Amino acid sequence: MLQILARRFGAGALLFVFLAGACAAAPACGPDKLGTERTLALSTAGGFAVGLQTYPQTLALADHEVVLTFDDGPWPTTTRKVLDALALECVKATFFLIGRNAAAFPALVRREVTEGHSIGNHTFSHPARTLRLMSNAAARADILRGFTADETAAYGRANRQITFFRFPGFADTPALVSWLKSRNIGVFGSDLWASDWLLLTPQAELDLVLKRLDRAGRGILLLHDSRVSTAEMLPQLLRALKQRGYKIVHIAPGPDRPPLRPAPPGWKSETEEILAKIIPRLAGHKASAPANKAGMNPNQALPEPQMSRKR
Ligand SMILES: [Zn+2]
Repeated sequence: MLQILARRFGAGALLFVFLAGACAAAPACGPDKLGTERTLALSTAGGFAVGLQTYPQTLALADHEVVLTFDDGPWPTTTRKVLDALALECVKATFFLIGRNAAAFPALVRREVTEGHSIGNHTFSHPARTLRLMSNAAARADILRGFTADETAAYGRANRQITFFRFPGFADTPALVSWLKSRNIGVFGSDLWASDWLLLTPQAELDLVLKRLDRAGRGILLLHDSRVSTAEMLPQLLRALKQRGYKIVHIAPGPDRPPLRPAPPGWKSETEEILAKIIPRLAGHKASAPANKAGMNPNQALPEPQMSRKR
């Protein structure tokens, strides 16, 4: 068909066909879409740790600005849906990858990068007992293995391209945070979350996120692209954000000093309060189960679900 077109109408016709095809494939990013308002191109030189649920500072976002972050992927069915929903609304997000999953599903990681999203590391194995209960050396090894697996999946080789990190279950240690900073890594907590480790219906999860976001007014939102309920409710969430006047801020590696906002007076770490209850219980457990070769389904192995008892 293309050859016939080229013969009859010349190369210009071919170009037209290709351009028409490209236009049909790309989503129309008009004003009716949520879109991405701006990108924070963050330098991680010297490191930092942000996210009010864990740290006494966060990114200085304007009122109604939201950073979308997704943990625990890639996972085949759900991550695809999440990427489709983001593409439809022309929204850029950040994915904190489990290295084992990135190694098992590299095409999904490449799709995330190709579609303009940023990626961070979330350890290699997402240890069920948390990094805090591992030796410092073992925890570092799991983190480094995660960077290597994520970067290899995304870029074909590991060369310190990824500069963002999030602790599984927010179970950091001062030593690990210092070490990450010394390696010029930015540590991201969150300002609010969806509690999507709970068994929620998509509608219940949507209502919960919107309620929390309306209360907080802005922030770094934690979701899980491994969760069915999140993948299902995301199209409605993005529509609702648009209707309520929220603006999406995309965080990406870059040259700029991170704009920081200190926590309000009387700040307390929400995650530390939860971990204080969970860690002693986890400490009684034996080491986590061996890896599933096909990747890790975080639906079965998140430490985060235990955080839900708080709420
Ligand atoms: Zn996680």
